[in-house]
Amino acid sequence: MEIAAIIAAAAAAAGYLFMRAALAKPKEYQIKPTAASFPPADRTIRHLSEAVQIPTVPMGEHAGTMLLNFHQWLEEAYPLVHKHLSRTILSDYTLVYHWEGSDASLEPVLCTAHIDVVPPGDDADLWLYPPFSGAVEDGYLWGRGSMDIKVQIVALMESVEHLLESGHQPVRSLYMVFGHDEETEGDGAKAAAQYFTDKGLRFLLVHDEGGCVTDGIIAGVNRPVANIGIAEKGYMDVELEARQAGGHTSMPGRTTSLGELAQALVNLERHQFPLRMTRVTAGMFEALAPYMPILQRMLIVHRRIFSPLLLRIISRTSTGNAMVRTTTAPTMAQASNAPNVLPPSAQAVVNFRLLHGDTSRTAADRIRKTIRNTNISITLKRREEPSAVTDTKSPGYQAVERTILQVFPESVTAPFLMIGGTDARRYEGLSDGICRFSPYILTRSELDRLHGYDERISLENISSAVRFYLQLFANVDI
Ligand SMILES: [Zn+2]
Repeated sequence: MEIAAIIAAAAAAAGYLFMRAALAKPKEYQIKPTAASFPPADRTIRHLSEAVQIPTVPMGEHAGTMLLNFHQWLEEAYPLVHKHLSRTILSDYTLVYHWEGSDASLEPVLCTAHIDVVPPGDDADLWLYPPFSGAVEDGYLWGRGSMDIKVQIVALMESVEHLLESGHQPVRSLYMVFGHDEETEGDGAKAAAQYFTDKGLRFLLVHDEGGCVTDGIIAGVNRPVANIGIAEKGYMDVELEARQAGGHTSMPGRTTSLGELAQALVNLERHQFPLRMTRVTAGMFEALAPYMPILQRMLIVHRRIFSPLLLRIISRTSTGNAMVRTTTAPTMAQASNAPNVLPPSAQAVVNFRLLHGDTSRTAADRIRKTIRNTNISITLKRREEPSAVTDTKSPGYQAVERTILQVFPESVTAPFLMIGGTDARRYEGLSDGICRFSPYILTRSELDRLHGYDERISLENISSAVRFYLQLFANVDI
């Protein structure tokens, strides 16, 4: 072919790609909220402040007492909920509330959150306000658990209490589960899932914490994005152990157990798991493509052609990287306990977060091949396979999406892969509509405070969370 013909063909192909990318038009939604009556904001804020003041850290000798104190506080703060809903306690501290609807033929909805919080960190002095003060200052409510995730408990309880005050009777049943150990074992949620399985229940929707509305976090998207978690990565701790004769360091062999272990860790870091575009992440980019500049949009719309380039761009940030590969993170190591003693055994733990398409078995095979050292034993410790993926066409997902567009009308919704874990995965098999979404808007600075110092939530976000639940309830006939 002549050069001119090649150029003309290339130009035509580029034109076609541009045109198709340009056709990826944003969906415009116009859905008016229907929930019209809300509880007084100052009462909700006071209640969240009181909730934060109970340090429900699930470790230490007072852990049980704090959880019981929290139960008691709930009873005092929400008298109508405790009068009209049934309450069951599982695993000593996990609460299950049931608000019975008038139509037993409708699948109930389950809303969950957790009572426990992570510890405030090694140096409580680094907090601007003491971590369990629940201080209300500068338009924010400060303290551990304010954002993760007592705001959800309080917003849920506040919503139900408010509906009861106005004499409301739900058509569809509502269950609420407040787990006591989400940040550690998740046994409370496991017990709740078993409890529902024994009852033969299935849910239209299981709603848990998860993604939230973020602004300016996803490069190129010029609108706030509501990230609805439809799946969670898997989790695997692998213990590596190298063994060699110990002895005195004055006469070491050519290699040592610690040296071999170190080599294995370096190999794992050098030979990362491959980049892969999963259905979940592709779905997220497809939803956001219409809101991106034309070049980015073109890469996404034609991702089959541009996949290697796209994956390389996404994996540049650590968050993006975690969405497109199984990640490798060495965390613990130990060998000799004296400087002049050769260790007969050196051990390390590496934490992997499994992307959909990998399983603990396929990942372990790959790890063995990467290390290629028969002196090193590989033991799988705690492991969870990647979660099921929620269908974005399920009625549960659609109800959450609709609610978000009513409460956060300036945002665009997108399905999203959770790179951390939640209690929601325990309810797999009990619902086709498992959605992980925290109903508030966060900036980068606030996201960085999660599990860190100076956790806080804006007073506006506290109101948004209440509006979200009341609108969600209205949308599903609760
Ligand atoms: Zn949480």
